[in-house]
Amino acid sequence: MPGDSAATAGVDSPRRAFLCLGSNMGDRRAHLRQAIDMLPDVVAVSPIYETDPVGGPDQGRFLNQVVELSTALTPQNLLGLCHRIEANAERVREERWGPRTLDVDIIWIDGVEMDTERLTIPHPRWKQRRFVLAPLRDLAPDVVDEDDLRLAEGTVQRLGPG
Ligand code: ATP
Ligand code: CA
Ligand code: CA
Repeated sequence: MPGDSAATAGVDSPRRAFLCLGSNMGDRRAHLRQAIDMLPDVVAVSPIYETDPVGGPDQGRFLNQVVELSTALTPQNLLGLCHRIEANAERVREERWGPRTLDVDIIWIDGVEMDTERLTIPHPRWKQRRFVLAPLRDLAPDVVDEDDLRLAEGTVQRLGPG
C-alpha cells in the first residue's frame, strides 16, 4: 500500500506483536497474570523465566514473560495500553531501571520500525537482553537471532508454562 506507515497511519489489519512483561516487586506472578488478563487479542504466552536484573541498582530477581498478540491497535495506542496496565499494578517510576511491580515493553511488531521520542520499535535494547530473547524465542524463533541470544546479557532460568 503506498505510504503505508503503521507508525503514523494506524494499523488496519491485525499484526503479530510481542510484549515483554517483567516484575520484581510484590506478588510477581499475580502481576504477570493481571497484565495478561488486561491485554486484548492474546494469541500465546511464553513460559515464565526467573532472571537476574540487568543494569540498575541492586534488586531482587525478576519474573519475565513474553506475550504474543494479533492486534490492529496502532503502536501508540498499544503503548498507551501498556502504561495503563502498569498503572493498574500501581507502578511507581523512581530510579531508572529500578525495581517495579510491572514493566510492559513493546519488543516487536511485524512490519513496524519506528524511532520517536516516546516509542522505538523494535525495542532499543532487546537484542542485549537474554530475559527478552529467551522467552521470545519460545514463541517466535523466526524473530530471534541465535547469535544475539548467545551474546546477550544476564542469566535466565525457565520456570515452566505461563
Ligand atoms: P528499558 O526501556 O531500558 O526497558 P524501562 O522499561 O525501565 O527501561 P520505562 O521507564 O518503563 O523504562 O519507560 C520509559 C519510556 O520508554 C516509556 O515511557 C516509553 O515512552 C519509552 N519507550 C520507547 N520505546 C518503547 C517500547 N518499545 N516499549 C515501551 N516503552 C518504550
Ligand atoms: Ca523495560
Ligand atoms: Ca518499560
